[in-house]
Amino acid sequence: MTNSDTGSKTESREFQAEVKKLLDIVIHSLYTERDIFLRELISNGADALEKYRHQSLTEEEVFDKEAPLEINIIVNDKNHTLTITDSGIGMTKEELEADLGTIAHSGSNSFMRNLTEAAKKDVSLIGQFGVGFYSAFMTAKKVTVQSRSFRMDDEGHEWSSDGEGSYTISACPGLHRGTRLILELKDDAHDYADEATIKRIIKEYSNFVPFPIKVEGEKVNTVQAVWTRNKNEIKEEEYNEFYKFIGNAIDEPSFRLHFSADAPLSINALLFVPQENFERMGFGRVQPGVNLYCQKVLIEQHSETILPEWLRFVKGVIDSEDLPLNISRQALQDNALVAKIRKVVTKRFLRFLEEQAKADPETYNDFWWNFGMYLKEGVTTDFHHRDNIAKLMRFESSKSEKGKLISLSKYVERMQEGQEEIYYINGPSREAIEAGPYVETFKKRDIEIIYTTEPIDDFAFNHLGHFDDKKLVSADRADLHLPDAKEEKVDEAAPSEEQPLAAKETETLIEWIKDVLTGKVKDVGESKRLVSSPAIIVNPDQFMTSSMERIMRATGQETQDFGNKNLEINTRHSLIKNLSSLKEKDEPFARSIVEQIYDNALIQAGLMVEPRTMVDRTYMILERATRID
Ligand code: ADP
Repeated sequence: MTNSDTGSKTESREFQAEVKKLLDIVIHSLYTERDIFLRELISNGADALEKYRHQSLTEEEVFDKEAPLEINIIVNDKNHTLTITDSGIGMTKEELEADLGTIAHSGSNSFMRNLTEAAKKDVSLIGQFGVGFYSAFMTAKKVTVQSRSFRMDDEGHEWSSDGEGSYTISACPGLHRGTRLILELKDDAHDYADEATIKRIIKEYSNFVPFPIKVEGEKVNTVQAVWTRNKNEIKEEEYNEFYKFIGNAIDEPSFRLHFSADAPLSINALLFVPQENFERMGFGRVQPGVNLYCQKVLIEQHSETILPEWLRFVKGVIDSEDLPLNISRQALQDNALVAKIRKVVTKRFLRFLEEQAKADPETYNDFWWNFGMYLKEGVTTDFHHRDNIAKLMRFESSKSEKGKLISLSKYVERMQEGQEEIYYINGPSREAIEAGPYVETFKKRDIEIIYTTEPIDDFAFNHLGHFDDKKLVSADRADLHLPDAKEEKVDEAAPSEEQPLAAKETETLIEWIKDVLTGKVKDVGESKRLVSSPAIIVNPDQFMTSSMERIMRATGQETQDFGNKNLEINTRHSLIKNLSSLKEKDEPFARSIVEQIYDNALIQAGLMVEPRTMVDRTYMILERATRID
C-alpha cells in the first residue's frame, strides 16, 4: 500500500514561501515542548472525523461507510516510526496540495511576524495559528501522508516531504477512507516510537478527544463529555485537563463556570477564562473559543453564533439538547433557539463575573486588566447586555489609590450631595491626568473623578450614556453642572492673595483673545473651574470630546470639528492678568503669548499641535525673557 502505483508519476512541488519560513522555525528553532506535535496531529484527525460525521449526514454516498470512526496509532521502535491513522474526511490531491503546502492566512506579513515571535516565546502557541500539521517536523525528519477522501470519485494519494522546501505527491490506490501520517523520527526523537510515551502524551493533552484513540489496538482516551456530568463528581484536575484540551492551552484557567439549566431551555455549559490574552499581546484577533454541541455531538467548533463576538476570549462548551442535530451553520445564525441560548448564557456569565468580583476582587481586577478590553467592546457593540457589562467595569479615580480600581457603583455610592453626574477624564496615565488642568476643580470641590486611560474607555462611556440613571460626563466638556463649591472666596490652592481681573478688563481681554484665535476656537470665556492653570480647552460638543478627537485622528478620519473647541481663561492667574496690560504695550508680542497659551492648553488636552511653529514661537518668547535690560 505504501508504494505508489508504478504507472503514475511522482510530482515534486515547492512549499509556499510562508510555509518554508514556518518549517524553518519548526525544524531549526523549536526544541522545547515537543510533545505537543502529537496533540496537533491527533486534533487534526479528530477534526477530520468530525467533518466526516457531518458530511455523512447530508451526502448520499460516502466512501467506506462501514469504517469505524477512530484514530489508530502504531509505533515501531526498530524502524523508529510513528504512524497515526484516522478514518475521517480525507483529502483529495488538490486538498493535499492546498492544505499541506500553503497556509490559509498566506500573504499576511504580520501573521508570520506574530507567529515567529510566538514560536520564540512558546512553541505550544503555534496551535493557535492553525499551522498544527507542520509541527510534525519537530520530531520527524520525513513525513509521509497517505489520504483518501470520502468522495466516491477520489483515488487516494501520497504526499511526502523532509520539510526542506519541497514535497512530492503521487497516486496511491488501495487506501481506506481517511488519512495516515507516517513519521520517520529524528535521531533525537526516537522516544516517540515508545508506546508508554505516546500513551502519556495522549492522557495529558488529548484525553477528551470525542473519538476513540487506540495505541497498538488499545483505547487510551476517556471519550467523555465532562460538561454533562454532575459537578460534584468532577475533579479539579479533570476540569483543568479539559480546559487544556478545549483551549489548546498549557496553562490553567483563571475562571471556570459550569452550569446547567433545564427549563425553559436545556443547557449544559462549561466555560473557562484563560490566564493569557493573546489578542492584547498583539497576536491578532482570537478565534471564538466556545464549541457548540447538541447531545454531546459537536455542531459547530469555534462557534461564531453561540456567544456574542465580544466574548470570543471565553473557551469551553455549550451543549443544548433542544437543537436539531443536523442544523447547518447558515441556519444556526438565524435560529431563534440559538439566539435564546446566547442570551441566557451571556447573562449567566456576566452574573458569574459579578459574583467573582464580589468574592475575590483582586483576582477579578487581574481579570479586568487582562480582559477588560473585550467587555468595553461589549459595551460599544452589544445593546442588550450594555448595562450589565457596565457593572463589571473598573477604573482608577481621583479617590482610588494608584493601581487600585473602583466600579461605577462604588463611584455612585460616594457621590457628593447635589452631584448628579458621573465625571471622567481621559489621559495617557494617572500622572498625566493629575498634572493637567481638568482635575483642578474636582480636587477643589472634593468631587471624585474617574480616570480613563484607554481611548476605548471614552468610546464605551459615550455608548453607555448613563449608569444607574446618572449621566456620564467627560470633564473636558464646556457645560459641566458641578454642585457649587462651598467657599468661593478663600482658596488656598490659588496663586497668592491676588484678586481676579476686573469684569470690564476681562471682557475686553476675552474679545481680543477671540480675535487673535479666530478660526481656531469657537469661543473664549472666563473659567469657573480653573485653580492654578492659566487656561483650558473645553468641548461644547458633548460627543466630540478631546479623546474622541484623538481616536478619530489616530484612525485617519478627517473631522471638520477640530476648530470647534472653547478656550477658558483663568482670570486669577497672573499670566492672564499680565496679558491684559501687555496687549496695551506690545500687542504683537501679546498675540504670540496667546497663541502659546492656546497651544499649551491643546497639549494638556492631549491634542496635536503643529510643533515647528510652536517651537519657533517659544524660542522667540524665551529670547525676550532672557534679555537683561
Ligand atoms: P489547521 O488544522 O489548524 O487548519 P493544519 O496545518 O494542522 O491547520 O492543517 C491544515 C489543513 O490540512 C486542515 O485545515 C485540514 O483541512 C487539512 N488536514 C490536516 N490534517 C488532516 C487530516 N488528518 N485529515 C484531513 N484533513 C487534514
